[in-house]
Amino acid sequence: MDHLETDYLVIGAGAMGMGFADALLALDRSAHITLVDRHHRPGGHWNDAYSFVRLHQPSVFYGLNSRPFGSEVPDTQGPNRGLAEMGTGQAVLDHFEQAMRQTLLPSGRVRFLSMTEHVGADAQGRQVVHSLLDGRATALTVRRKLVHATLTGTRVPSTHAPRYAVAPGVRCVPPNALPGIAGAHPRYTVVGAGKTAMDACQWLLHNGTDPARIRWVISNDAWFIDRANVQPGVENLPRFFESLALQYECVARSTSLADLFDRLEETGQLLRLDAGVRPTRYRCATVSQAELAELRRIAHVLRLGRVRSIAPTGMTLERGTAEVLPGELFIDCSAEGLASQPGVPVFEGDHAIHLQMVRQCAPSFSAAFTAAVECLVDGDAGLRNGLCAPVQLPQEDFHWVTMQATTLANRQKWSRHERLMQWLAESRLDYGTRMRPLVPAGLLERYVRAIKAASPAWAPLLAECAQRQAAGSKAAVRAHAREEVAAAS
Ligand SMILES: Cc1cc2nc3c(=O)[nH]c(=O)nc-3n(C[C@H](O)[C@H](O)[C@H](O)COP(=O)(O)OP(=O)(O)OC[C@H]3O[C@@H](n4cnc5c(N)ncnc54)[C@H](O)[C@@H]3O)c2cc1C
Repeated sequence: MDHLETDYLVIGAGAMGMGFADALLALDRSAHITLVDRHHRPGGHWNDAYSFVRLHQPSVFYGLNSRPFGSEVPDTQGPNRGLAEMGTGQAVLDHFEQAMRQTLLPSGRVRFLSMTEHVGADAQGRQVVHSLLDGRATALTVRRKLVHATLTGTRVPSTHAPRYAVAPGVRCVPPNALPGIAGAHPRYTVVGAGKTAMDACQWLLHNGTDPARIRWVISNDAWFIDRANVQPGVENLPRFFESLALQYECVARSTSLADLFDRLEETGQLLRLDAGVRPTRYRCATVSQAELAELRRIAHVLRLGRVRSIAPTGMTLERGTAEVLPGELFIDCSAEGLASQPGVPVFEGDHAIHLQMVRQCAPSFSAAFTAAVECLVDGDAGLRNGLCAPVQLPQEDFHWVTMQATTLANRQKWSRHERLMQWLAESRLDYGTRMRPLVPAGLLERYVRAIKAASPAWAPLLAECAQRQAAGSKAAVRAHAREEVAAAS
């Protein structure tokens, strides 16, 4: 077995692993970093995505801290018109690939083991990786820390088979297959309610498919963030900070979770697809009003729960059945873009880091910030974890509250740490802190007042979240048991 040594072994070279390595390289002038990934190049799940995938937030908030990404110049046409560019999947991959080629590898302190899988530790405590091409094993002695950059568990349809049965004779493809369609289908049924399904619906509409030929299976509606509220550029700062202030004002005035979501919707902080259907989920998905208007052209929406099976004779869902047309094409977009994560702390003793979000909906920032905490904070894991409470990945609507509360608590702790504040003020990825000196004074005061006013409201809201979480867990166990019984009988 070959043997290598390194200071940090980063498992996963997606946005999180790359974001950590990039920031660490800039902050620690001596550390040697090894990245290992099953893919042939950095970028993680973007390597497996459909060709028409894009970010759903502006590019300038994504990617690596050390180099610019995307432009603040607004699009002039299309459903993102008036709003800053959202990079294509290819642009995201190029960003990571260029950083690897132009900065990380030339530093002489970074090694990238591509097409290689991390399989665990050997009896001597060395980390073992296997080449996926020839099976060769290599043992790595990690002098400082093992960094797990795989916890977001991003799933995309091309790498995850549908979780429902598809009978022979049914054509069911991931969205990756759409651009290759050679002949017309009588109907296109998009299965899924997340960002990927929205992309597939928009792709069909954009390419001229009659909306009457599209059917959309939405198991659960989700709340969306209005992209216009989260725009870069000095001219957008007032709206950016007013949106934040409004969210805290809603929290401050809310009397319950239901009341909070009413207020967030009334003030334009959260959007929904269908005025008649109240969302029950929240996944950090960001849309423009024009995109929603486009999606609303699809009138045939099936809301009968999750798909259980599709056969040429019909489709079975949790709460009913639906017909299947001969030659119909099903587009599976049901893989969860973000899977839930285990509740592990970010820093484990003095030997491991488990990269997670430490700010809501901000993977790139979170990875870079964790590197900053690693390099700029003196102290043990307990002290570092105090600054990096993991923000739970969102699934249910009430995760809007838990994410906000953790994000805010983390940010308040950071503000008492001078070196971190200096890093944040210079960080490309921390738009809010960097731009704060330019925010009109009155608006900044309103924002700070709103945060203070919201402070007593968090505890009752979080208690309601905990009840919902407990009720949801019990229901999930019951549903799982029902499925086991059904499968056994
Ligand atoms: C369609 C889509 C659009 C998105 N748009 C945005 C956006 O606009 N803004 C935003 O902030 N976020 C966005 N996100 C979310 C964001 O891209 C992800 O949260 C982030 O990229 C996750 O990166 P990651 O590195 O944690 O995971 P991944 O990209 O999944 O990378 C993990 C890597 O680990 C590797 N790996 C896993 N196990 C092993 C092992 N044992 N050995 C070796 N390698 C291993 C995998 O091969 C993979 O390359 C989007 C997500 C999707 C799906």
